[in-house]
Amino acid sequence: MTGKIIDGKAFAERLKSDTAKQVSILKEKYSITPGLAVIIVGEDPASQVYVRNKNKSTKAAGMNSFEHRLDDNISQNELLDLIEKLNHDPAVHGILCQLPLPKDLDENAIINAISPAKDVDGFHVINSGLLATGGKGMVPCTPLGCIKMLRAELGSLCGKDAVVVGRSNIVGKPMAQLLLDEDCTVTIAHRHTKDLASVVRNADILVVAVGVPELVKGSWIKKGATVIDVGINRIKKKTPAGEKQKYRLTGDVEFKEALKNAAAITPVPGGVGPMTIGVLLQNTVTAACRQHNVAEPKI
Ligand code: NDP
Repeated sequence: MTGKIIDGKAFAERLKSDTAKQVSILKEKYSITPGLAVIIVGEDPASQVYVRNKNKSTKAAGMNSFEHRLDDNISQNELLDLIEKLNHDPAVHGILCQLPLPKDLDENAIINAISPAKDVDGFHVINSGLLATGGKGMVPCTPLGCIKMLRAELGSLCGKDAVVVGRSNIVGKPMAQLLLDEDCTVTIAHRHTKDLASVVRNADILVVAVGVPELVKGSWIKKGATVIDVGINRIKKKTPAGEKQKYRLTGDVEFKEALKNAAAITPVPGGVGPMTIGVLLQNTVTAACRQHNVAEPKI
């Protein structure tokens, strides 16, 4: 018997459709149109694709989308001035600065210049602090989406042994915190973990966010575990000379082998990736409701 493949695209479509319904209620009942401002600096091709998709999905949900495309030689102060303007713009409820930024810009200073109430990525130090202390802040989109998928799959997560591989500020750490908030027993593994295989073998819930293709072997997965593969790795395909280089995407988990042991697993592509934008839209609605002091419409 093989495990179930969790359909992230279908999950994301449901999130987006729920968000669109919330937006139409907000417009009708309170004349509020949630607005998301996205800042992109430079020409990084992957970032360009992400921003195009975010813009398209924001508009499709009936929200306002404000795109700010900046030259990669923009100064720190110019970027901070733009963020300050957006912080005070009442039509903008969410602000997102697409990462990575060019090296001579101070990423932390820029993220922390965004008003915490409008920080829909949930990366501001105040929002990280609120997450760590059980407060009501903005929660990072990817880990929040993973929790939503896990809840949809498993119902209550209470008492499960959860392992998170990776401890970045944007995925691993908030993911571990959210699993802890769901009453899981949480272990965080990283580059210095002595025996990764044996740590992974203990997981009822396994979330992997490292950026190393197929680091986690299928044989390490506990029978019946639920596996969320956050990794997105671009692998060069064999391409005939003279043709444009082609790539395939793969995750951090050996997918086919993992299917033999896991009860359910997210694929790459088509798992966590599409769902992240869905949560970003939901976070923008949450931010708009909080800023206008109205209850979030229930769908
Ligand atoms: P980072 O590079 O910031 O963090 C990677 C983490 O993995 C680090 O904590 C690192 O450990 C750990 N790690 C690296 N190698 C190993 C190893 N051999 N054994 C154990 N742990 C290891 O990456 P991100 O968290 O930003 O992203 C992780 C992956 O998720 C990437 O592939 C990224 O593209 C993807 N991603 C996908 C998103 C989506 O929407 N689907 C959103 C965000 C990210 P240490 O701290 O010890 O160095």
